[in-house]
Amino acid sequence: MDLNFTPDEEAFRHEVRQWVAENLPPDISHKVHHALRLSRDDMQRWAKILGKKGWLGWGWPKQFGGPGWNAVQRHLFEEECALAGAPRVVPFGPVMVAPVIMAFGTPEQQKRFLPGIASGEVWWSQGYSEPGSGSDLASLKTRAERVGGKYIVNGQKTWTTLGQYGEWIFCLVRTSTEGKPQTGISFLLIDMKSPGITVKPIVLLDGEPEVNEVFFDNVEVPAENLIGEENKGWTYAKHLLAHERTNIADVNRAKRELERLMDAGWQGDHVGAAHCAPLAAMYFNYRKTTIYGGSNEVQRNIVAQTVLGS
Ligand SMILES: Cc1cc2nc3c(=O)[nH]c(=O)nc-3n(C[C@H](O)[C@H](O)[C@H](O)COP(=O)(O)OP(=O)(O)OC[C@H]3O[C@@H](n4cnc5c(N)ncnc54)[C@H](O)[C@@H]3O)c2cc1C
Repeated sequence: MDLNFTPDEEAFRHEVRQWVAENLPPDISHKVHHALRLSRDDMQRWAKILGKKGWLGWGWPKQFGGPGWNAVQRHLFEEECALAGAPRVVPFGPVMVAPVIMAFGTPEQQKRFLPGIASGEVWWSQGYSEPGSGSDLASLKTRAERVGGKYIVNGQKTWTTLGQYGEWIFCLVRTSTEGKPQTGISFLLIDMKSPGITVKPIVLLDGEPEVNEVFFDNVEVPAENLIGEENKGWTYAKHLLAHERTNIADVNRAKRELERLMDAGWQGDHVGAAHCAPLAAMYFNYRKTTIYGGSNEVQRNIVAQTVLGS
C-alpha cells in the first residue's frame, strides 16, 4: 500500500499553503505561534476570511455550499492551516450544528441557517450540559413546553464555551418525561437575543471566562426552530457528537505543538524555558479535551460497549 501523497494531492497542498500564506493575518498567526490569547475579533476575522473563500465549512458537501473535499484533502487543509499558525476554527457552527441541520433540518432551516454559518457571520454556542447532567446527559432537565406555535423554555445550561459571544445556541431540551430519558429529548435552535436568556461567566483559574452558565426563563422559541421530530433529539445529538469528537482530536495542531516543544527543548535551558512557558499554559488549558466532548472514561465505556456488547 502506497501511503505517499499523489501528485494531485501535493498540488492541492501547495494551493492551500499558498492561499493561507497570502490570507492569514500575521498578527493572528503571531498570537497562535506564541500561544497568546485570541480575542473574539481574531477568531471571527479568520472565520470570515475562510468563509469568503468558501472554506469555513471545509468538511461540507458541495450541495450545501462546501468544497466537497475528500478525507485526504480535508486532512491536508487542516494540516496546512495548523502549520501556518491559523487559529482553531470555533466549531459550534461549521463543524457541529451544520451537519445536523444538513442531515435532519428542513430545506427552509437549511436555507435560513447554513449561509450564516458558512460565512462566519453568526456565532453559535452549544447547550448540552447542565448542572448534574454532563456524562449522564440524558438526565437533562431544561424543559420546553409546546404552547401553540411556540416552545416555552425554562432551565439552565452550563460550561457553555464562549457563550458570551453566542448569537444562537443549539440546545437539548426535555419535551417529555415519559419512558426512557433519551426518548423525551428534543433539539432546538434558540436565538440568544430572546428575552429571558441570561449568560453568566464562569471565571477559570487563568482569570478568563472561557465558559458560561446560560439561564432560560420563559424563553419563547418559534416551533419552526425544532430540528427534526419532537422527542427524537437524542439521535441528532449523537450525530453531532460524532463530528464534535473527531474535531476535538485536532491531530494537526497537536503535531505542530509537539514539534514546537521539541524545538524548544533543543534550544537549551534558558531559551527553551521561554518557549515552553506559553506551552505550559496551553497544556493546562487543554486538559479540557479529556472531558469537554464527553470524558475519556465515558468514551472508553462507549468503545467497550460497542466492541464487547452491553
Ligand atoms: C472547558 C470545558 C468546556 C465545555 N464546553 C461545553 C459546551 O460548550 N457546551 C456543553 O454543553 N458542555 C460543555 N462542557 C461540558 C462537558 O461536556 C462536561 O463537562 C462533560 O460531559 C462531563 O460532565 P460533568 O462536567 O458533569 O462531569 P461528570 O459527569 O460529573 O463526571 C465527573 C467525573 O466522573 C467520571 N464519570 C462520570 N460518569 C462515569 C461513568 N459512567 N463511568 C466512568 N467514569 C464516569 C467522568 O469521567 C469524570 O472524570 C465543557 C466542559 C469543559 C470542562
